[in-house]
Amino acid sequence: MTPAAFRPKLPKWAIRGRAGPAVRWCDSCEGRRNMTYTGDVTVGGPADTRELPGLTITKVSVGPMDNNAYLLRCTGTGELLLIDAANDADTLLELIGDIPLATIVTTHQHWDHWQALQAVQQATGAKTAAHPEDAGPLLVTPTDLVRHGDTISVGDAELSVIHLRGHTPGSVALCYDAGGALADQPQLFTGDSLFPGGPGNTEHDPKRFGQLMDDLEARVFAELPDGTWVYPGHGKDTTLGVERPHVPEWRERGW
Ligand SMILES: [Zn+2]
Ligand SMILES: [Zn+2]
Repeated sequence: MTPAAFRPKLPKWAIRGRAGPAVRWCDSCEGRRNMTYTGDVTVGGPADTRELPGLTITKVSVGPMDNNAYLLRCTGTGELLLIDAANDADTLLELIGDIPLATIVTTHQHWDHWQALQAVQQATGAKTAAHPEDAGPLLVTPTDLVRHGDTISVGDAELSVIHLRGHTPGSVALCYDAGGALADQPQLFTGDSLFPGGPGNTEHDPKRFGQLMDDLEARVFAELPDGTWVYPGHGKDTTLGVERPHVPEWRERGW
């Protein structure tokens, strides 16, 4: 993966203005954790946490590629799941604390998304999950191979696996809708397949680009509502409502 994977960002106002009632801005407020979630995190800075029905999501940025790691906690059982042990095992283990980590999901095979996988797995004994098409390069052989349509549980919470081909052959997104309670606001973790401003990097390969756009259109935009909150593998969050009007432009420009 190269920095070219970072897609151009929409202007801040576009996200601020249209991301829905969860977003309120108070950058200097000490109480931000409990007041509002923005998902704007920086390497070395504080994590950002939001409480949802059945699930608490904590986002932290780690490593030289500004990777996002997401720690999910079932509010019923306290069980934890980590999406991308990307880098900086110390920071991730501090977030995890004394609570047993059940599972680490790796969204895709690129090195920047699993630099801390071995250390965090060894420290916690967690199961590890990835798609078979991307499992090969991982230093930790996944205990669980997950495919399109599969479900990954964290305590009582269930995440559905969406296979998105193109950025890599075995990239996965994870979707949480609280058993329907968040049907209008599903929570979607996209790895490097979807960012604010466009799809993930397909290295100017028209076939890979076409595949990723096809999968994004059929498996994400056609299936999920505008209120879907998107947590990408790098950078700021967005919503499908913000991105949807631009999908034809992405297809047209070819990247
Ligand atoms: Zn990446
Ligand atoms: Zn990547």
